[in-house]
Amino acid sequence: MDLTADHLRSPAHRNLCTDCGVSRMADPSACGTACQFIAPDYPAQEQQVHGRVAGTDGDEAFFGVTQAMYRAAMVQPRDGAQWTGITTSLAASLLRAGTVDAVLACVPDAADRWAPVPAILTDPDDLVRARGMRMGYAPLLAALEPAVAAGHRRIAVVGIPCQVFALRALEKRLGLDLYVIGTPCSDNTTTAHFHDFLGRLTDRPGDVTYLEFRADFHVELRFADGTKRLIPFLKLPISDLPDDFFPLTCRTCVDYTNRLADITVGYMAGEGDQWLIVRNARGAQMLAGLGDAVRLAAPGDKGKRQGSVTGFIANTRRAAGGMPLRRMPDWLRPVMGWLMPRIGPKGLEFARARVEMKAAETILHLRRHAPARMKTMIPDHVWRLAAPYDLPPAPGEQKTPTDD
Ligand SMILES: Cc1cc2nc3c(=O)[nH]c(=O)nc-3n(C[C@H](O)[C@H](O)[C@H](O)COP(=O)(O)OP(=O)(O)OC[C@H]3O[C@@H](n4cnc5c(N)ncnc54)[C@H](O)[C@@H]3O)c2cc1C
Ligand code: SF4
Ligand code: SF4
Repeated sequence: MDLTADHLRSPAHRNLCTDCGVSRMADPSACGTACQFIAPDYPAQEQQVHGRVAGTDGDEAFFGVTQAMYRAAMVQPRDGAQWTGITTSLAASLLRAGTVDAVLACVPDAADRWAPVPAILTDPDDLVRARGMRMGYAPLLAALEPAVAAGHRRIAVVGIPCQVFALRALEKRLGLDLYVIGTPCSDNTTTAHFHDFLGRLTDRPGDVTYLEFRADFHVELRFADGTKRLIPFLKLPISDLPDDFFPLTCRTCVDYTNRLADITVGYMAGEGDQWLIVRNARGAQMLAGLGDAVRLAAPGDKGKRQGSVTGFIANTRRAAGGMPLRRMPDWLRPVMGWLMPRIGPKGLEFARARVEMKAAETILHLRRHAPARMKTMIPDHVWRLAAPYDLPPAPGEQKTPTDD
């Protein structure tokens, strides 16, 4: 069942809100305790979900609680999937095995393939419809109450980090038995803005069926006629985008890797394959359900990230301060576009770089646009990630034990 206007009350009207669906539920005041953008308590939630808090050394400091990490791919990549389709295969396998009665995921809007619509799926074959990434906010959690009303208690949810944070806050209250498959998320924007972006990348935006930011520093576009185009990141028209292109929510998001999912399915450390973070026993159980349909290997780890992160932070300081982004001279762009995938950080080092970049972005944009929110909204793991780049908290920006 796809959600329609009949299921949806009006969304929240906060400036930091990704319309995750909570404000459309019977008790919209639940936003006050469930929202990632108010006062998220990650250690408490990690303790509840994973039975322990993420370490502050090694890779847990970057990626959250980790039982195992893999470079991974479906042996038979799934048609229409964003990468090889591990996410939707995990959900379909849970339905097929009878482990869950329903899956909440996002399918494309009937009139716009790029707009996400929440759906309650009970037939494993229907997960085909959820394959692929769409750009925009989806009120996924508004599907929880209709799912419960339909008699479902054991539910799998495929969600992005801001949805999963709120989901975990509601889990106990709704008496649900959840299997949470998370994807990382960054740089989301409204579907309308995304259409504008496509129009700047190609003269036939209506024919684009797929877009992805790849770990080799290229954007891949696929078209309805089967053709493909790779655009180096450095040739993207980022500095031409309007200031509000990326909403403040996604510029200040505090969880890139979906720390509260049972299993995170992304691509950043995958070097062209996918990247899995199994966080707890439930995540391991889900992965085991795919058996030998999924190929697993140790993730690679090469290069040095500090130069790329430092350069990114310098640009972000300018952008957050309202200055234009530094443009690379046009003649240098093709050379750098060719060079970056060859010399840049790879595998886990690439993922660490992206996580540090996002932490710095959060601090700089909140400091500029909503300084009063910093103290409650920025968890300690974000401050720790930004610390090597001379971004310590200013007085009053970080919560101290005496604030409680
Ligand atoms: C806006 C956005 C930004 C992302 N940024 C990153 C990133 O920076 N780094 C990274 O490693 N991964 C990122 N991802 C995740 C990545 O694009 C893939 O979805 C993931 O690697 C899974 O690939 P797959 O082939 O297993 O997915 P598939 O099997 O094709 O399944 C895709 C799943 O994504 C869900 N989905 C699609 N669109 C949305 C949406 N708008 N909101 C919520 N759920 C949605 C669907 O429910 C579906 O289950 C992002 C995803 C989104 C939606
Ligand atoms: S909990 Fe969800 S709906 Fe409520 S304010 Fe936060 S993002 Fe918006
Ligand atoms: S970047 Fe963060 S806030 Fe924005 S949609 Fe993704 S998870 Fe939500």
